[in-house]
Amino acid sequence: MITVEQARGIIVGRITPLPAEKIPLDQALGRYLAEDIVSATDIPPWDNSAMDGYAVRVQDVPKEGVRLDISYEIPAGSLPKGPLDKGRAVKIMTGAPVPPGADAVVKREDSQEFEGSVVIRTLPRKHDHIRFAGEDIRTGEMILEKGTLLEAPEIGVLASLRRRMVFCRQRPVVAIIATGDEVADLDEELAEGKIPSSNSWSLISRVRQLGAVPLYLGIARDTAADLRGKFARASRADLILTSGGVSMGDYDVVRDVMTESGNSMEFWKVRVKPGRPLAFGVINNIPAIGLPGNPVSTMLSFDLFARPAILKFMGALTLTLPRVRARLTEEIRGSSDRPQYVRGILKRCGDELCASPTGPQGSGILSSMARGNCYMIVPQGNETLKEGEYVECEIFRPSW
Ligand code: AMP
Ligand code: MG
Repeated sequence: MITVEQARGIIVGRITPLPAEKIPLDQALGRYLAEDIVSATDIPPWDNSAMDGYAVRVQDVPKEGVRLDISYEIPAGSLPKGPLDKGRAVKIMTGAPVPPGADAVVKREDSQEFEGSVVIRTLPRKHDHIRFAGEDIRTGEMILEKGTLLEAPEIGVLASLRRRMVFCRQRPVVAIIATGDEVADLDEELAEGKIPSSNSWSLISRVRQLGAVPLYLGIARDTAADLRGKFARASRADLILTSGGVSMGDYDVVRDVMTESGNSMEFWKVRVKPGRPLAFGVINNIPAIGLPGNPVSTMLSFDLFARPAILKFMGALTLTLPRVRARLTEEIRGSSDRPQYVRGILKRCGDELCASPTGPQGSGILSSMARGNCYMIVPQGNETLKEGEYVECEIFRPSW
């Protein structure tokens, strides 16, 4: 049986990043840059005042208490009316351009203005309270690299470079198909013996969280014919995800369809707990991941295998969940034959991180995901990790 890393390697190896498209900055949040951003200007564009105060020449203020006549004033958004004359001051507001000849700004708090002149109370040093042209970003500087996730700071930088349009990789369309005669959608009647299709919703939400476009195709009944019908409706998808129907049961038909002529299956089963039954292949020329049906396994397998595929389509550089090491607050049990992913709560304990299990760990216990924020990874063969030992954790909540 292949390992998590091998399975991920095979899946990611089959994915080619989508083409770039030019989009308005307004729509770029959560997207990945498809171009390197090199600044064509200095930011700030000119030397400007970091304070409300008075622009002076340091050599004109050899001691405290010097009084200088004020030539004029520069509000933010205006230009200097001329150079600073020797022995005088110019009143200046935060963000306004420093007049030629001035080499410091004296804060309003360090001065006293009356009758058109100002008394300087604190000795200025050269360059005090001046923000120099290009001190934030220099002309020609590479400021954001291809593959960068655009979040609020990056969008702000792009706006300061006046980039109204930006090249980002397209968002993949991800078809989602639930399977099972026992599962029902929320708009269906919940007949006796049926359960709600929670996987439909956890998968739609995960896909959206990554910035991809879910194409929900509903629930396929446990027949090859019904499943084929759903796959036929996925033709505009970049990736197909199914949930359930990949185990050993008589009605587990995902693999049957994946191995039919025209389709292909690259692997089935990964050495991981939960989530061993996982099928990866190509259906109607579209990469397809058959996720297991148990709700925790569905989400874990999504995070381990579908997430990297989607992020690669989008042009991201890092595909795996963020990892940290934390100290266990109580013993957790693993498995002799597979690494086990235990849902945990990661928090800060004094100077370090600590993690505790969320409670019962059955692969059907979806509330263990809702209570947790990370997977604590117990390596294969390590049947228990004791309280106080370190455990590797993968954080599945982006907000953490
Ligand atoms: P399967 O692999 O199809 O046998 O499914 C394994 C377990 O997951 C069964 O208990 C199913 O009822 C459950 N399951 C399958 N699909 C879903 C779904 N869409 N939502 C919630 N539970 C599901
Ligand atoms: Mg099933």
